[in-house]
Amino acid sequence: MQPLHPENRISPDLAPALGPGLYIVATPIGNLGDLSPRAAAVLAGVALIAAEDSRVTAKLLHHIGARVPMLAYHDHSDDKVRQNLVARALREPVALVSDAGTPLISDPGYKLVRDARAAGVNLVTIPGPCAAVAALTLSGLPTDRFLFAGFLPAKAGARATAIAELAGIKATLVLYESGPRLAASLAALAQGLGDRPAVIGRELTKRFEESVAGSLSELAARYAEAAPRGEIVITIAPPGESPPADAATLDAALLAALADASVKSAVAAVSAATGLPRAQVYSRALALKRDNAAS
Ligand code: SAM
Repeated sequence: MQPLHPENRISPDLAPALGPGLYIVATPIGNLGDLSPRAAAVLAGVALIAAEDSRVTAKLLHHIGARVPMLAYHDHSDDKVRQNLVARALREPVALVSDAGTPLISDPGYKLVRDARAAGVNLVTIPGPCAAVAALTLSGLPTDRFLFAGFLPAKAGARATAIAELAGIKATLVLYESGPRLAASLAALAQGLGDRPAVIGRELTKRFEESVAGSLSELAARYAEAAPRGEIVITIAPPGESPPADAATLDAALLAALADASVKSAVAAVSAATGLPRAQVYSRALALKRDNAAS
């Protein structure tokens, strides 16, 4: 992480007196200068911090000069841990943080907030960095409608199914990915969505930040040569912004889809991904099946 400017250090005695509640606090995604003064004051002022990894949060607390008790929390934590946090938030201020960025966004917290709301806990959000939104703002892709889809499944079959579900959505798509899996995911996305324009946001807010634009297949080829290091967000243009699929692309998409799905589902997914009429895709799917059976 980039160091915090000394003037941004918050002394614990600057923290306001906080009422009971669950304070959902966003933290930096790589640059400590992005910790808001309010986030720092709340972290310094709560009675307890529910943290994804207390060692990571301890470094953040050290930077703001605060010492606050912490409890490890994951959505798969024992129900008793969650009940205990809800009970404490009813009588004192409790913060929820993840290792980086906005809690609950591909990070723990959903079940805690759900249960806290049901129990009548005062809920307060302290918004701040989120890699998905940061990448979207850099992408130059439409921002009026976007769908955040988190991480794609690791296994090829489940990944193809997940991509087929995204294919017909008329919105910019935002996905998280890791460096080693990036090239394979981009190739699968090109196949399942059509070769749409996309942007890779890497190491955002950090020293080696970059954002690289290209079509999905160009980006897949680029990152197949060398897996990139660091943290990555993929943003993908909505359907309809890429040229119509040619015969070879249609066949490749159909063969990939038919390997894991029925003709009906494969046709639906490929038609949505390519923008080609269902009847045309269906008759080509039948021809490919016939050719396969004959060979
Ligand atoms: N809650 C976090 C948020 O608000 O962005 C996301 C947590 S998720 C477990 C971590 C993933 O977010 C990384 O694998 C990467 O895909 C993305 N990410 C986090 N920090 C990033 C950064 N600085 N640059 C690019 N992507 C980042």
